[in-house]
Amino acid sequence: MAYAPLSNEQLLRYSRHLLMDGVGLDGQSQLMNSHVLIAGLGGLGSPVSSYLAAAGVGRLSLCDHDTVELSNLQRQVIYTTANIGQLKVDSAKETLMPLNPNIIIDCYPQSVTKGILNQGADVVVDCTDNLDSKLLMNKFCYQNGIDYISASAMGWEGQVIGFDFKKNRTICYGCISNFDSKDQVLTCTNFGVLGPILGVIGSLQALTAIKMLLGKFNSHGEMQCYDGLNNRWLNLTLERRKKCDQCG
Ligand SMILES: [Zn+2]
Repeated sequence: MAYAPLSNEQLLRYSRHLLMDGVGLDGQSQLMNSHVLIAGLGGLGSPVSSYLAAAGVGRLSLCDHDTVELSNLQRQVIYTTANIGQLKVDSAKETLMPLNPNIIIDCYPQSVTKGILNQGADVVVDCTDNLDSKLLMNKFCYQNGIDYISASAMGWEGQVIGFDFKKNRTICYGCISNFDSKDQVLTCTNFGVLGPILGVIGSLQALTAIKMLLGKFNSHGEMQCYDGLNNRWLNLTLERRKKCDQCG
């Protein structure tokens, strides 16, 4: 595919990508012509949105119904005390646009819906702590062949899993989630979480998104689990659940 040439400003801005094996001019142009939807602008959405904006992903759609609260600031590092009370999507855009004025940012101050998912994103990054939203995104992405990255974190631990639904329909998020969506979902609201754990897991989500956009993702349905207290990583290869109500 032929891309528009990079400006001098862009050549300098992205010079560390341009030098890299596996990115280069074609890869950077690919990122600049991509669209990523980020659902949830909290502890995971902070590093995800910062890294994808800085990397030059051409269009970011930000989706979150919440406003910034004092109790968010211990981990949601794109906000400051002055942003308390502001919509997270608006505050995030104010931080991200000066970081990279080359990109386009759409704001959706609401929970994720099928209408928002239907805006043509290449990758959907789930940074919510809401099971109903996760299952909605998973099913829509599975059915429409959109790459999907889910993650969660609590306490000292976190997990990331990516689904290459563009090429691969062998397993989905529903296959690995055994709980009824009406059950109480364990969240960091109830159990707490350390900020840097969200930084590690959110950075892994951003890395996974970039790999998907560059066509370099090859760990469909593999869950990476991190225990930050004991310095342990575990990679789990999961299998399809025959009675999965999302993909079965
Ligand atoms: Zn499934």
